[in-house]
Amino acid sequence: MGSPSARIRLALLVTAALTAGCLVPAPRHDNASGVGTVRAESPIAAQRYAEMLAELHPKVSAILPGSLDRDTELWVQTTLRRFAHEDHREDAMGFTVLARDLTPGRIHLRDNTAYPEWYLTHELVHALMGPTWGTLPGVLAEGLCDWIAAEVNPSYQPVIHTHRLLHSSMFFGGMSYEVDFTHPDTRRKTRSNIWYAYSGEPAELGPEEVIGLDRWSFHSKARVPVSYYGLGFVVVSRMMERITLEDLHEMCTDAENLGLTVIPTEWILAAAGIGESDDWARAGESLLGVDEVHEINRLLPVVFQELSIRAFADLYGDMDPLEFLHQVNPKLSLADGTHVPLSSIRGVRHALLDIWPSAPIGTWSAMR
Ligand SMILES: [Zn+2]
Repeated sequence: MGSPSARIRLALLVTAALTAGCLVPAPRHDNASGVGTVRAESPIAAQRYAEMLAELHPKVSAILPGSLDRDTELWVQTTLRRFAHEDHREDAMGFTVLARDLTPGRIHLRDNTAYPEWYLTHELVHALMGPTWGTLPGVLAEGLCDWIAAEVNPSYQPVIHTHRLLHSSMFFGGMSYEVDFTHPDTRRKTRSNIWYAYSGEPAELGPEEVIGLDRWSFHSKARVPVSYYGLGFVVVSRMMERITLEDLHEMCTDAENLGLTVIPTEWILAAAGIGESDDWARAGESLLGVDEVHEINRLLPVVFQELSIRAFADLYGDMDPLEFLHQVNPKLSLADGTHVPLSSIRGVRHALLDIWPSAPIGTWSAMR
């Protein structure tokens, strides 16, 4: 009869053999980039991503404190997977293989996506994040990957902001907009906070519970809802308006020195300037700029059409729509002080002229 340790060793070997049997083979074409090897299903893709990797890898290393000095292997796949029977959700654009001790490994990226530089930078942050980041909560690690992607690829900023703002609005059930308008009789100007409700994946946990999850517990969820990525991005962006990346990194090492597995939530909320529960729903407001307004309108044209009509039809539904636009002239008031007249947003004017004062069929908005 073998010793217990021999039996254990055998069991481990069997597991390893079974796992290895299911691994998908590496894509056929490779291209060395100087900072690692890219493998893809066509030579053109291998070359394209090798150039991208050579450009983005040093940028991520430079911006990320405590980054690992290592090459990166990147697999570009039509079907995103590591194991033969693995089924990644369709909206997953990439992943980085993470060991139980949080040692990062190979990056997998979906081929033919709309924003490859965003997704590659995001995964590079995962791959280069050193062990000194170990106490960063999982949701903030995701937020940090996107925040750095927006910094490193400035032309993608409105796209990243908009997607993650919409995802965070799924987490909170909606998004708030400040709207200035003029009462036509008195000419008095008023500012209203309009809450625009979105339907999406409802969050199972509250924001503070999600922030309390270390990286391993966060990723061990069977399926991380996309709305959590929005939450992570909004919290990290708010922190980065108040502290530096070096400060955040130091927070991680301070927590580790105290023997904690994850940064205390109170430190994070203080650094993000979130005190009251009401702050949460408006946490992303500072990310909404003119470019983001137009990007939201490109992705979801019904939002501003519906907001314009539902918020004002009760008050001014008996006015002629052109008169309404001219006299009431509702404008989005953005955190940076700029104003965007709702009538200047593509499609809003037409929608109003066509259907005022009835509203398009969509979700529901209310003034508060
Ligand atoms: Zn990620």
